[in-house]
Amino acid sequence: MRLRKEKGLIVAFDMEDVEFAVNLAQDLRGAKGNFAIKIGRPLEMQVGKGIIAKIKESSDLPVIYDGKIADIPYISRKIAENAYDAGADAVIVQGVLGSDVLEEIKGLGKGDVIAVVEMTHKGSDEFIQPVAEKIADMVVDIGVDGVVLPATKPDRVKNLVKIVKSAYVISPGIKAQGASPGDAIINGADYEVVGRAIYETENPKSAAEEMYKEVMERCR
Ligand code: C5P
Repeated sequence: MRLRKEKGLIVAFDMEDVEFAVNLAQDLRGAKGNFAIKIGRPLEMQVGKGIIAKIKESSDLPVIYDGKIADIPYISRKIAENAYDAGADAVIVQGVLGSDVLEEIKGLGKGDVIAVVEMTHKGSDEFIQPVAEKIADMVVDIGVDGVVLPATKPDRVKNLVKIVKSAYVISPGIKAQGASPGDAIINGADYEVVGRAIYETENPKSAAEEMYKEVMERCR
């Protein structure tokens, strides 16, 4: 199930408790709102790629594999192929790696390719931010399906969304990294990505629903 360019919330699954992750995926089945699940390396490392299949079976939501793939084209393709074959609808790749890596993964034609254009942390300003516009141009030329822009830097989201056009924009950095729910969507993003502020709460399903409501109300 591919992601569409529409407003929604992506729940980051970076927890290390596999049973908890599977239960949350099941809970999110009936959640009120437009949700997707993003599986990060801390969870994947517990059991390997089998977790992608497990989460996919447990939920009816689009599943993104966030390996932040960052290797030579041959290895990057292998990682992406394993993720797609395990059930991922999309994979996240570092855009800064260059066009050959993105083309190699796009060439598989097995699912969405999401490219990181700029990151949320401060260190991203040192080397990535000065070339982010160039990265955005390049990934759009290649025809990636989605891009990652930092919700923690709303002015950057505002500028970069103008370049990415038809690709959907996903933006992490909400709450735990300082951005407020709605900061990125108000500035042109499609999805906000939320991890700890959902899975570290007492009732993650209602936290996800509440946050979805808050974002949609703010962006109306
Ligand atoms: O827990 P928290 O909401 O901060 O999680 C943010 C998620 O978004 C993590 O899975 C992290 O890997 C991811 N991410 C990010 N910054 C980026 C790209 C992805 O925080 N630029």
